[in-house]
Amino acid sequence: MTLTEKILARAAGKARVQAGDNVWVKADVLMTHDVCGPGTIGVFKREFGKDAKVWDRNKVVIIPDHYIFTADSKSNRNVDILRDFVKEQGIPYFYDVIDDPNGHWVFDPSKGMLQRQYGSHYAGVCHTALPQKGHTRPGEILFGTDSHTCMAGAFNEFATGIGNTDAGFVMGTGRLLLKVPETMHFRLEGKLQPGVMAKDIILHCIGEIGFDGATYRAMQFDGPGVAGLSMDDRMTIANMAIEAGGKNGIFEFDDQTQAHVDKRCKLNGTKTAYDPVERERDEKFVYEMTADLSKLEPTVACHPDPGQRKLAKELGNIKLDRAYIGSCTGGKTSDFLEFARVLRGKRVAIDTFGVPATPEIVQELQNARWGAQTVWEILIAAGVQMTENAGCAACLGGPVDTFGRMNSPMKCISATNRNFPGRMGHKESQVFLASPATVAASALTGKITDPREYLPN
Ligand code: SF4
Repeated sequence: MTLTEKILARAAGKARVQAGDNVWVKADVLMTHDVCGPGTIGVFKREFGKDAKVWDRNKVVIIPDHYIFTADSKSNRNVDILRDFVKEQGIPYFYDVIDDPNGHWVFDPSKGMLQRQYGSHYAGVCHTALPQKGHTRPGEILFGTDSHTCMAGAFNEFATGIGNTDAGFVMGTGRLLLKVPETMHFRLEGKLQPGVMAKDIILHCIGEIGFDGATYRAMQFDGPGVAGLSMDDRMTIANMAIEAGGKNGIFEFDDQTQAHVDKRCKLNGTKTAYDPVERERDEKFVYEMTADLSKLEPTVACHPDPGQRKLAKELGNIKLDRAYIGSCTGGKTSDFLEFARVLRGKRVAIDTFGVPATPEIVQELQNARWGAQTVWEILIAAGVQMTENAGCAACLGGPVDTFGRMNSPMKCISATNRNFPGRMGHKESQVFLASPATVAASALTGKITDPREYLPN
């Protein structure tokens, strides 16, 4: 069995499963957020009754993160609906925007977009917050009402996005009927060269198979090249499995996985026991590809989908209006550090927006010193509009007052994960997906630029 099949077999209480089997599996964690949470709660109440209780209040994690820093009253109200539900159900893992359990969330536009407006419990973008807060564990099953839930496959678990109806059912029963996906094998060898990042690996793989090339399939990443990838790198890669249509992305378990998970679970007082899955000899794959990481170059997914692969060095003729770094995929501390390495001591030529994924990342960037300045100060000095209001922001457009949203047709290079028409706002805008390093170099020149031209010695 493949890694995915082993986890599904275990969660179904079976010795073996194979691709195509339909099995009932037990959920270890169900995550929802402000966009899909209210709908999921509605389905749950409609199907299980207005006084129904969730199947296990310790396994439901609720993370408002999407449409938070907006004056749109319906979006603000969604956070209040989550708070009311959490109170009613006694759910311990709720990362509220405000500290008052009886309060109401109202964004105050008069304070501007850059200054922090959240309380001490807020956790930022769900997929980045889940591992930070100790909710991702090897060998487990994570369901989330969000397509990029697959990011947690970096931690050797089966993690996938589900719709509100399925999530309402999981909320009531803790179980879900799943068809076991076929597995595609991506063997990574070698080591990335300077200026080439994990984002380039996944853009390369998606370019190879197309944006629907892994539809309802597991994407298993393994091989000797994985050892040189940090957990952040693996998260970037697993996150974008869905951009090829994948059911999930998954990595092997190793010392790095263990150290990260153990630290985060202990720090947050979440469950520390887990049981990883390991590879075995009789894996059956429907597709096999080997990527030599040392040969990869800075890569871009051009408008209008994540499979439109080109090399950054081939796209110097594309003039840009805007650059954006942020999201679960590209808004981690390591992403901003690489971004800052390219921008340090220079000045961006186009509007450039920076949105850290979580408050913890904001703090890390404000505390990290490079010489006399913090990384945060270096980015501001380079002309980047950095907001402390960590969240999804313009990654998926959002209400018109969303920070960084494209409200007119323009071309943007972005460290996010999805570029279908209208994704970041205006439906005639064009989004080019790239690594934080490529976004930084392109922000300096105002056209798509290979970051290797701008690497410090
Ligand atoms: S940052 Fe973007 S991709 Fe990630 S959860 Fe938010 S909207 Fe989705």
